[in-house]
Amino acid sequence: MTQQIFAANWKMNHGPTAAAGIVSELRRRWRRFDVEMIIFPPALSFASARAAAGDPSPFKFGVQNVYYAERGAFTGENSAPMAKDAGADYVLVGHSERRHVFGETDEDTAKKCAMVERSGMTPLLCVGETLDQRNRGETAGVVTRQLRAGLAQLDQVELTTSVIAYEPVWAIGTGRNATPEDAAETHGVLRSVLRDLVGDRAAEVRILYGGSVTPANVEQILGAADVDGVLVGGASLEPDSWLSICSA
Ligand code: PEP
Repeated sequence: MTQQIFAANWKMNHGPTAAAGIVSELRRRWRRFDVEMIIFPPALSFASARAAAGDPSPFKFGVQNVYYAERGAFTGENSAPMAKDAGADYVLVGHSERRHVFGETDEDTAKKCAMVERSGMTPLLCVGETLDQRNRGETAGVVTRQLRAGLAQLDQVELTTSVIAYEPVWAIGTGRNATPEDAAETHGVLRSVLRDLVGDRAAEVRILYGGSVTPANVEQILGAADVDGVLVGGASLEPDSWLSICSA
């Protein structure tokens, strides 16, 4: 049985002071030790959030993005080795906002996943179709392409330890979530692609669902087949709502 993941993507919310306050509160109120909880603060808030979690921390931390080069003249970017040095365990790769607002390509996601693994962290690769693609019946094809491309440079061990998130673009931040049946269907597609890549060890790869998850719908989503956890944006920003999701 794999351990479920509850991942909080704070996006561009909570500066260093607010982030530290929220993590302190989460630490004080955290009761679950049978799940893996990961917080993805904005890069500038990472250090204060990580420090507020204490040592040892009951949670894991990740960054929302890295560049795929190790160092150099890339003004404004952060590298994977820097994220590792700062205390990150995970890196989000290919989030829909990176793909659709900042133009991240499948090839970028492949290079980033490889750099994240080689820097000693785990990529959390996000895949998902737009509403137009869904309406054209292209969901399975789109997520299969994104998954194969993003994982293309990983070896067998890296493939089984990486984490995947299915996040339909039309469900992110819109209040419109996929039904448990929609999630199960697409997670089944992803699991079968993984089976093709790593055989029976595909069962060990955690596939999260993301897209307007709230305290009201999380239990239904987690009950769907092949859903091993959730990646949450809006409803992870405040401790009450986030802890209520994590207690599902
Ligand atoms: C996300 O940012 O990955 C996300 C799923 O956002 P929201 O929960 O707000 O839809």
